[in-house]
Amino acid sequence: MSPKMDRYKRFVVLRDIGKKGLKKIRASKVVVIGIGGLGSISSTKLVTLGIKHLRIVDPDVVDASNLQRQFLYRDQDIGKPKIHLAARRLRPLNPDVTIEPREEQLTEDLVERMVEDMDVVVDGLDRFAPRYILNRACIRKGIPYVFAGALGATGNLTTILPGKTPCLECVYGGVDDTLQPTCHTIGIYPTVLGVVANIQVHEALRIILEQPPRLASQLLFVDLNTLRFDQFPIARHLDCPVCGNQV
Ligand SMILES: [Zn+2]
Repeated sequence: MSPKMDRYKRFVVLRDIGKKGLKKIRASKVVVIGIGGLGSISSTKLVTLGIKHLRIVDPDVVDASNLQRQFLYRDQDIGKPKIHLAARRLRPLNPDVTIEPREEQLTEDLVERMVEDMDVVVDGLDRFAPRYILNRACIRKGIPYVFAGALGATGNLTTILPGKTPCLECVYGGVDDTLQPTCHTIGIYPTVLGVVANIQVHEALRIILEQPPRLASQLLFVDLNTLRFDQFPIARHLDCPVCGNQV
């Protein structure tokens, strides 16, 4: 194994990855939408795993309150756009990975350009309005979407495979962000972000390796204060406005 490939030795020895799996990882393209609490962790993991191409999308600037959990940013970054700082800090972690920063708000007009050509979409958003836009684009384009949200010491996740599993609208349709508790009001444990984001990356990895993702048609609730992981089967809604039979 060449010195360059030594980086991936611990992958190659995994029985269900091997050289064949590593080749798939090295050829894969993933987009992380939102580079905050979840996205800081998932993007870092995806880069060190050695995917081929990581696209990161975020329009925000760094706020002092981000520094408690978003470890890609520093005190001197406050007030500056996140996306280029994130790209600059991610690149040295693995020069094999192409990192494509996009300083964009996720809108209906732009969303398809954000997800096109990607093998998996990893959710780093904190509101449902942009997630609905993302969900619709993933269903239209047939791209797997690993949904996750986190608040307090809890998280919830599902992996959406277009045409096969329930979509986000089937599971959490019609959520009004203005009525929901947020990190601003409830707070967030950085620890739960680590658990949730790592599960997301593992699901993305299984998709890349053409192994069935464990959260397809399953909703996982994580609570670090009770240390409970509860998993429920979920079903598609035939009348779903995004993925239902009438669409
Ligand atoms: Zn649906």
